[in-house]
Amino acid sequence: RPAGPRYERVLLKLSGEVFGGEAGFGVDPDVVQSIAAQIKDVVEAGSQVAVVVGGGNYFRGAELSLRGMDRARSDYMGMLGTVMNCLALQDFLEKQGIDTRVQTAITMGQVAEPYIPRRAIRHLEKGRVVIFGAGAGMPYFSTDTAAAQRALEIGAQVLMMAKAVDGVYDSDPRHNPDAQRYDTVSYQEVLQKGLKVADATAFSLCMDNVLPIIVFNLLEHGNIGRVVQGERIGTLVST
Ligand code: UDP
Repeated sequence: RPAGPRYERVLLKLSGEVFGGEAGFGVDPDVVQSIAAQIKDVVEAGSQVAVVVGGGNYFRGAELSLRGMDRARSDYMGMLGTVMNCLALQDFLEKQGIDTRVQTAITMGQVAEPYIPRRAIRHLEKGRVVIFGAGAGMPYFSTDTAAAQRALEIGAQVLMMAKAVDGVYDSDPRHNPDAQRYDTVSYQEVLQKGLKVADATAFSLCMDNVLPIIVFNLLEHGNIGRVVQGERIGTLVST
């Protein structure tokens, strides 16, 4: 596939699971260090990077509520978990000399700035990585949805969904050896075939506002930079 243009401003969605490494729980410093190194390369190449971090390595509200907890309260626990991941990423970026700001959707002044979109844009323009925590700040939402919303509000050109798989498949590659990966796929086809790209709320925000999504494999070092440089890896979801 021909390479696309380099993206000037991207929103990178990192799932919490990735932060947990092999254990899938807590923070694996080696993993976060390697993600930070990839982001550093992108910033140094001149692109602006905003990040939304998930929290599945700590708590998922829906899972806790199945075990009897109040849904909204367990969702708040989930959101607080994302902030711990933000701080870990911030630490590894700052250690590598990259300026960062964490902005959270739930205010916690000692730890992070509140979410202020225009300020986030200013940080990006100054070459700082902005890490958004606490999702959208609302129970019943996901960090995927927060990522789509933040991407739209700060004017990112693409929503980069970093996963442990290398794109969108027509069936689950873990169960079907003949599963085919899409290079590109339209929003319509994703809906018609029920393909897994992001949750429904996040996906419809992207589709309604024509925000392209790229699903790619985070675990191959340098992939964040490849996507930002316009190399066509993973799956591009667009009109
Ligand atoms: N969450 C929420 N509202 C939001 C974002 C997140 O309630 O706007 C909660 C929800 O309980 C979710 C948890 O935070 O399960 C962790 O986020 P998510 O599951 O999206 O993380 P990921 O799967 O990306 O690791």
